[in-house]
Amino acid sequence: MPLYNSIDRKVLKEKLMAEPFIRKTISFYRYFILNNPQEFRDQIYREWSELNCFGRIYVAREGINAQMSVPEANLENFLHSLQNYPIFAEIPIKYAIEDNGKSFYKLTIKVKDKLVADGLNDESFDVTNVGKHLNAKEFHDLVETGGHIVVDVRNHYESEIGHFKGAICPAADTFREELAIITDLLKDKKDSKLLLYCTGGIRCEKASAYLKHEGFSDVNQLHGGILEYARNIKQLNLQSNFIGKNFVFDERMGESVDGQVIANCHQCGNPCDVHLNCANELCHLLFIQCESCAAEFEHCCSIECRDIKNSSGDEKLHHRQILMPKFGNRSVYRKSFRLAKITNFAESNSESGK
Ligand SMILES: [Zn+2]
Ligand SMILES: [Zn+2]
Repeated sequence: MPLYNSIDRKVLKEKLMAEPFIRKTISFYRYFILNNPQEFRDQIYREWSELNCFGRIYVAREGINAQMSVPEANLENFLHSLQNYPIFAEIPIKYAIEDNGKSFYKLTIKVKDKLVADGLNDESFDVTNVGKHLNAKEFHDLVETGGHIVVDVRNHYESEIGHFKGAICPAADTFREELAIITDLLKDKKDSKLLLYCTGGIRCEKASAYLKHEGFSDVNQLHGGILEYARNIKQLNLQSNFIGKNFVFDERMGESVDGQVIANCHQCGNPCDVHLNCANELCHLLFIQCESCAAEFEHCCSIECRDIKNSSGDEKLHHRQILMPKFGNRSVYRKSFRLAKITNFAESNSESGK
């Protein structure tokens, strides 16, 4: 059995759409010491491909972080197979709340240096000295009571479409930048109660340990993240203190928590919280676009990208050579992107005489 996927993305997506069965979207992570991540990676790749699982899984010396979809008929077997590994014993599995089963179209398992690309030097602080874990109800009540500092430790494009009421949502592009901003912003509040949260809880493990190392004395974190929170408040029938959508790192791009739309289309400014990647493969920028702009720009982030997408093979090659340095690694819009694009949009509009 091959240990890597080599089939074209389009073919895989079509195959996924045509599947006659249901998939369950799940996620889990755990920190544990792996002596041979590559060997472990190959082993689970074999087992999980056999069960027809899809997903994006990171394996590192420090553990595993998995977002995946499992055919419903194989779920029982999958969960059972986890029991063969002591490291997965009683691992909390989070189930998606808004699940169309089309979250992933292939299985990717990567060996990484770290589970979260945090840019931190783990040797410089005690990563095991994490904050106090609060369950969804405890976290909910503290947010409700108020008077505490609620901190979103995710990036700006995530908090833009949804966040807890009253939360500090730093305009950070990366996790490292995020921690630097929080530390600086709260430098005079080291004895306040901090309530940290992220998507599934994994980033809070690092963030809380880091902030404790920086001298914060009362660091708390939402156990299981927004994913667990959303599921729990539904069960408990509580009014959500999280407004908007939870950004998720799969094809669905987000799960609505309370049905509110708090973001805007980056091109026309209308209420919208649908992320997509620019259809110009050379750009692939992640941004927010409404349906009518998607139609006008053909799912591209700009007129320029639309033209490139529609150009012929030879022209594309030409664009690739000229534009590669420009588009480079730009896979997520920067904080300044929105304004720049709105200007760009206005100009393009006046050019076309609208
Ligand atoms: Zn729009
Ligand atoms: Zn683009």
